[in-house]
Amino acid sequence: MAGEVTEATARAPVAKLAELLRGARRAVALTGAGISVPSGIPDFRTPGKGIWEGVDPMEVAHIEAFHRDPKRFWSFYRPRFETLADKLPNAAHRALARLEGAGMLDAVITQNIDRLHAKAGSRRVIEVHGSIATSSCTSCAATYELERVAELFDDEGVAICAACGGRVKPDVVLFGELLPAAAIAEAEELCASADVLLCVGSSLEVHPVAGLPEVTLAGGGQVAIVTRSSTAYDSTAAVKLDGDVVAELEAVLEAL
Ligand code: ZN
Repeated sequence: MAGEVTEATARAPVAKLAELLRGARRAVALTGAGISVPSGIPDFRTPGKGIWEGVDPMEVAHIEAFHRDPKRFWSFYRPRFETLADKLPNAAHRALARLEGAGMLDAVITQNIDRLHAKAGSRRVIEVHGSIATSSCTSCAATYELERVAELFDDEGVAICAACGGRVKPDVVLFGELLPAAAIAEAEELCASADVLLCVGSSLEVHPVAGLPEVTLAGGGQVAIVTRSSTAYDSTAAVKLDGDVVAELEAVLEAL
């Protein structure tokens, strides 16, 4: 039946991904910065773009920078917060929300802090790097919604806790900080039991996301990749789509 094999291997990647999703008992998505680029949020690892221009994120978005020089930290983070707060989800975020709504996707694990999956209607979102949704006092642990953080800035531009006068930090994982243990455990559990791990817009280089496809593969599941960049999993992935994330995911939805 050589003819059938040839036909199967020649099938378009979009159709192949649609078939994987149709056949999955449990599919989980794993997303990175690439899914939010069409929403106007640059990937900070692309040099010289937007707010990251002339800034070393490793230096300014580091927990030590927050403690050592909160004024400088917030002079960078405050406009970033304000910019992110206004961003809207794009068709790729909406595609994943539609898959979940149709019962074809269990959850979205994301490296992104921009809340766009939730804004697009995804219900189960695991944010392994935290999110801009809240900020918390480093002294008394009081938590402030994003909309309220603007009221906390003192004359120096540093966010100060209204309850105790302590310093308020965004609930995002800064460089040099531990990852949120509960979110990581949930992500690993989801990946271990997933038939299909759909990786979208991530180069799968940054821990912990870099290790999650391995968890799915070890559990007998398959990995699908929708991203322009090359990844360490390209050769083990069941399918790789390397076009624009919006166009690719819309095509997959159409093929379902
Ligand atoms: Zn406080």
